[in-house]
Amino acid sequence: MLEHAVSQSRRAFLSRTGQLTTAATIAGLTGGMSREAAAQTTDCARENTVTALTDSHYLLADVRLEEGFERDGDVVVATRTALYTLEIKDGKIAALHAAGAALPAGLPAYQANGQLALPIMRDMHIHLDKTFYGGPWQAPRPRQGKTIMDMIALEEKLLPQLLPTSEQRAEGLIALLQSHGSTIARSHCNIDPVSGLKSLEHLKLALEKHKADFVCEIVAFPQHGLLHSKVDGLMREAMQMGVEYVGGLDPTNVDSAMEKSLDAMFQIALDTNKGVDIHLHETSPAGVAAINYMIDTVEKNQALRGKVTISHAFALTTLTPEKLEETAARLAANGMTIASTVPIGSLMMPLPQLIKAGVFVMTGTDSVIDHWSPFGSGDMLEKAYLYAQLYRGSDEFHLSRSLAISTGGVLPLDNDGNRAWPKAGDEAGFTLTGASCSAEAVARVPARSATFHKGSLVFGGVGKA
Ligand SMILES: [Zn+2]
Repeated sequence: MLEHAVSQSRRAFLSRTGQLTTAATIAGLTGGMSREAAAQTTDCARENTVTALTDSHYLLADVRLEEGFERDGDVVVATRTALYTLEIKDGKIAALHAAGAALPAGLPAYQANGQLALPIMRDMHIHLDKTFYGGPWQAPRPRQGKTIMDMIALEEKLLPQLLPTSEQRAEGLIALLQSHGSTIARSHCNIDPVSGLKSLEHLKLALEKHKADFVCEIVAFPQHGLLHSKVDGLMREAMQMGVEYVGGLDPTNVDSAMEKSLDAMFQIALDTNKGVDIHLHETSPAGVAAINYMIDTVEKNQALRGKVTISHAFALTTLTPEKLEETAARLAANGMTIASTVPIGSLMMPLPQLIKAGVFVMTGTDSVIDHWSPFGSGDMLEKAYLYAQLYRGSDEFHLSRSLAISTGGVLPLDNDGNRAWPKAGDEAGFTLTGASCSAEAVARVPARSATFHKGSLVFGGVGKA
């Protein structure tokens, strides 16, 4: 099935992703123009586009930044913006020069062409290690009537086929995320009896090549069950290989021993001084019991405070409002994070209630295209769009607030409309897009034209000044 992909050279693979990014660059640079106008300006835009920028000190002119809200009475009806020249030095935003201000002389200068700058996006739940992305089209097998144990059996056959290309495919996914403005991520990585530590070794090789343009934490993920597949020893080995989080998976449905499974997971974290990020899909009362047991464990172990993430946490959808309030308060008090893909369908995650209670909620792609799902775009701005659409955020103010789930809480304007980002001294991480303000960006999800990470252009292009 994957023979074609295996025989592909890395160069051919990367050039394919490169073609995509060029198309996205042009689409982004032409912002709100008509398709016809965009086609006419394509050649011209390409000639004037700088795609490699190696200066450590430079100016980026005509960057659109948010200035404040415009109100009709109490209601935010619009967002005011202005064009700035960003002075970028040694990976930081050294200064924000307003239009007309005297600029430091002699610096190389580039043009953002009025594109809006958004804070860098964070994909905080993805599986970079096992993906069909970059290979031939392949839909997942039908899931009806299949249990997670059936999926694990399928993986046992699939993993040896994926491993030969997993490093280059991880690089392809990194390029995809960058093209959507993400340069910060948390990737789960299989630790299982079939691939052993190989998935992790390949992922680390891919990340090593992107040390300068992509930051990624790794979660060692016992996809076939920590107890069920007897990988406690492998997990402990993985912890010595630069992994930051101990993963876990449905302790009742997969390991058939909720407390024992969670205890084993937490023990690895405590012994190795790491955090925890568990996949918890269970919606039965067992899922609720697992959440309560994890909160109890964190309460009893100060070392785990602020270091535990529950991914998915679908069981929270089954709680009464009173129980939810109580659970959210306990999650917040223990610094526990929820990672959600913002699912659509019958499971409406109570994300606004969690956020209101002070729980840190982050989002991620999970699957781009693999044997679980073919629908992932790798675009965190799209997650903000989903969040706004699902939770009645269609007005200017709430659209702009929805961006927080994609950026780790970093927003251009605070709730009162004062500029909170960017500030001089901030790391120069941002993405440029063809929108007039972040509310429009969230609602319309325009293409990104460029992504900067620590002052380096890591995707797309900017103009020549
Ligand atoms: Zn996942």
